[in-house]
Amino acid sequence: MGRVLLLSLDGACREALSLMLPRMPALRKLIEKHGLHGLRSTVPPTTAPAWASIQTGMNPGKHGIIDFLSYSRADGRTSLVNSLAIRGRSMWEAITASGMRVITVNVPLSYPPARDRRRVTVGCMLSPKVSPDMVYPAEIYPVLRRNSYTILPGFIGRGIAVGLERFVDECIRVEESRFAVAEELMEAYDWDVAAVHNQCLDALQHCFYHLLLGGTEEEREELGRFYAAADRLIERLIRRAGRVSMLAVFSDHGFTLAERYINLNLWLKRRGYLKEKNSGLAYRLALLLRRMDVLRLRNLLLSRLFRNSLPFVKLRTELSLSRIDTHRSRAFIPVGATFGCIYLGGGSEAGLRERLKRELEGITDPASGRRVIARVYLREEVYRGEHAPGLPELVAEPAEGYAFGPQLLGEGRFIRAARHGTELSGAHAMQGVLVMNTKLIASEPELLDIAPSVLAALNLQVPEWMEGRVLQAR
Ligand SMILES: [Zn+2]
Repeated sequence: MGRVLLLSLDGACREALSLMLPRMPALRKLIEKHGLHGLRSTVPPTTAPAWASIQTGMNPGKHGIIDFLSYSRADGRTSLVNSLAIRGRSMWEAITASGMRVITVNVPLSYPPARDRRRVTVGCMLSPKVSPDMVYPAEIYPVLRRNSYTILPGFIGRGIAVGLERFVDECIRVEESRFAVAEELMEAYDWDVAAVHNQCLDALQHCFYHLLLGGTEEEREELGRFYAAADRLIERLIRRAGRVSMLAVFSDHGFTLAERYINLNLWLKRRGYLKEKNSGLAYRLALLLRRMDVLRLRNLLLSRLFRNSLPFVKLRTELSLSRIDTHRSRAFIPVGATFGCIYLGGGSEAGLRERLKRELEGITDPASGRRVIARVYLREEVYRGEHAPGLPELVAEPAEGYAFGPQLLGEGRFIRAARHGTELSGAHAMQGVLVMNTKLIASEPELLDIAPSVLAALNLQVPEWMEGRVLQAR
């Protein structure tokens, strides 16, 4: 029985790859041979729910995760999710229970690492810092030290603060050290499944997606250095792995250009659905921080304060949430910025969901008359399972060219142009990509299908709690 090699590129999409494939000979060769498929992400298409679905083969209604932050309806509080927050079992557990061995490096939601003697784990960006805490078994920590392992170059907007050239250098260095660690572990330990996640692609595309699509030749050349490096790393691991029964190169979500930002909480407030509390000092400070966009000062400051974006996102979310009177509000967005995850208040009337869906889908941009929301999903359309009742009643997907901004209520217009060059220009989208070393028998693959496909490639039974399909012919 062969092995399985999973190589993920955070946020890789058809559009970016079509521009960068000339610089990616290894991936190009694979695509020429086996084809490039779309891979539908979770709703919302965010790394946390996406990877919970990849690991479990279940939808968010069963694993309970829709963002890096979870919102509790019971006490109105938010908390950062981690590996322990995933409800149900993962494919890794199913694999090691059969006696097989797994190596994962930087797989999102793998921190804290499982203490399973058949697993070698280097945890993910949920780890506050590089420490023995983020690995299992502890004996592999020197491998990280020796390779100067870094989780991320820094805060998500760091690219904007330090500039394209320097950020590309930093991203290449981080991924080179990550893949060097993976290679050493794959050499030193027996394995049946190995998974390595390239994280920097996401940060690079968030900061510079406008340059990828519309930059000068020199700017694209700069960006191209990262894609070329990512390709060399993929090629090295494929060579290291040798014969495998399943190879998948894939992404957890796609990307799109954010031309205009929508502040949906502000819209909900103006329509009378969301009720605000009185302004506190902390909130006014946060608004001030938001206005400090001049000279990239904000990103520079934030990248000094936060090496990792998640504590900042949590702080920003809590400041925003502290402004929302969740008892009196009929609808509000407490967490998440990729899609609008709308929770209804306790006293909301019958028919509110349907009315909100209709109104949201009818919002037009005052500047162009274009509709700004592609569609609104009702909870039962996208979430099935025992944890669905805790998830939002409505989820709004932005139309092409639009993205939801941070949720601080703020003032002014609820739709505005994105300031490319001083704020993020790339946003997540539903369609990721999948390249597999075999012909697919299932059409329109989804993230849920990865886990059953891995088990099938290992000749293991697909447990009945997994909802996805086996993608390849057996
Ligand atoms: Zn992202």
